[in-house]
Amino acid sequence: ITLPGTSSGLHIIHIAAEMAPVAKVGGLADVISGLGKALQKKGHLVEIILPKYDCMQNDQVNNLKVLDVVVQSYFEGNLFNNKIWTGTVEGLPVYFIEPQHPAKFFWRAQYYGEHDDFKRFAYFSRAALELLYQSQKKIDIIHCHDWQTAFVAPLYWEAYANLGFNSARICFTCHNFEYQGAAPAQDLACCGLDVQQLDREDRMRDNSHGRINVVKGAIVYSNIVTTVSPTYALEVRSEGGRGLQDSLKLHSRKFVGILNGIDTDTWNPSTDRHLKVQYNANDLQGKAANKAALRKQLNLSSTNASQPLVGCITRLVPQKGVHLIRHAIYKTAELGGQFVLLGSSPVPHIQREFEGIADHFQNNNNIRLLLKYDDSLSHWIYAASDMFIVPSMFEPCGLTQMIAMRYGSVPIVRKTGGLNDSVFDFDDETIPKELRNGFTFVHPDEKALSGAMERAFNYYNRKPEVWKQLVQKDMRIDFSWASSASQYEDIYQRAVARARAAA
Ligand code: ADP
Repeated sequence: ITLPGTSSGLHIIHIAAEMAPVAKVGGLADVISGLGKALQKKGHLVEIILPKYDCMQNDQVNNLKVLDVVVQSYFEGNLFNNKIWTGTVEGLPVYFIEPQHPAKFFWRAQYYGEHDDFKRFAYFSRAALELLYQSQKKIDIIHCHDWQTAFVAPLYWEAYANLGFNSARICFTCHNFEYQGAAPAQDLACCGLDVQQLDREDRMRDNSHGRINVVKGAIVYSNIVTTVSPTYALEVRSEGGRGLQDSLKLHSRKFVGILNGIDTDTWNPSTDRHLKVQYNANDLQGKAANKAALRKQLNLSSTNASQPLVGCITRLVPQKGVHLIRHAIYKTAELGGQFVLLGSSPVPHIQREFEGIADHFQNNNNIRLLLKYDDSLSHWIYAASDMFIVPSMFEPCGLTQMIAMRYGSVPIVRKTGGLNDSVFDFDDETIPKELRNGFTFVHPDEKALSGAMERAFNYYNRKPEVWKQLVQKDMRIDFSWASSASQYEDIYQRAVARARAAA
């Protein structure tokens, strides 16, 4: 199995539940491939371990084949065989684990949302470590992500390190502290963890509910803990931590926030095949052509070419500020703009509410609500819109504001989490002028959002030259993974150096 690592490069393994484009639910998937590719480019040996889901996009894997080895892993008192598949995704080597377990853990036609998710990912975490242990790879960094693979940290230090498999250091990234993998304490035993040892205040016991909490376990047991923006890293040390604030404060020396990048190959208006016309910062005619074409396609009024188009692309969940999204639609109508929403909701009453709003505006030729998930259409909306709304209640990083800027759509966002680290108000004189790239507001209410929208509309309508320069500036900002990957590289290297010094 083993590929030789380069002498100076690190051998880095990501263990995760998602990876774009082969198994994508949300932002986590983009991080695994984006960060993985950037680290590989820097000369490191990066490999990924994923479950072999029945519903994954096999056509996105090159050379998918089953290996001639069987890895046995522990679960609930027995050993089970695992088929190991390999292939490359976006140029990255990936191992897919297919459990030969009667519960058919990854044969469920969906990634998450099963009654036994806790067991499914406990099983996967154990099997992934077993694969690494048996392969005898000399690994420098094992990087696990979110609660689904947070089991890896305590498993590594409690069950594997004393078998001599201890060259690696563990990095854990939490992409959203809303999801922590809490469960009754005895459930932890399924993957071979010692409940007696771990159900303790200073280890894996949940800080408020007397259960065990897997994300807490990863905070305690990892060498490095990260989250996806510096501001969110501050927020989760208080209320944003959803009960884990004290654990994060206690371990704050190993905890850091690093802003995600975006995949600038996927999100590139000058090569994007989903667009009617490709364009770049020096050719905004192309952007205007996409706007005209989208208006036609969606039956929006095209009498006034310079009427501003406001876009919003999002999961419609409370985190995203649904009441403010609704307000932005009405406010846009009042200000004489056009609004296009692309969003779908897993929450039935929110989906119904937006279906109601869509009906209300059915005969209005300035407002369109498209209540579905559509990747291709999302590219076109980024390209067609002049402004882009992200009024989140909290936002660990957020990718849509960065994608919007790359496509020349000026963001209007609430100052929270990663939005606060990537969007800087055009009128804020305390910020260097060259950094100011959008419009922000603080209070999560309609008045604050209205204020930011009015300021944006004002520039757009009254100072077209200033607006054009803002659009061009936003399109030229570097949101690639390069600088974030350097920060990960740096913390990996320091952890590895400490490990070598200790040995
Ligand atoms: P989250 O991971 O919380 O959903 P992010 O901003 O990190 O939010 O990532 C959202 C990603 O999903 C972006 O790439 C965005 O374009 C995409 N997306 C969200 N909703 C839709 C939709 N309805 N149709 C197509 N793409 C969507």
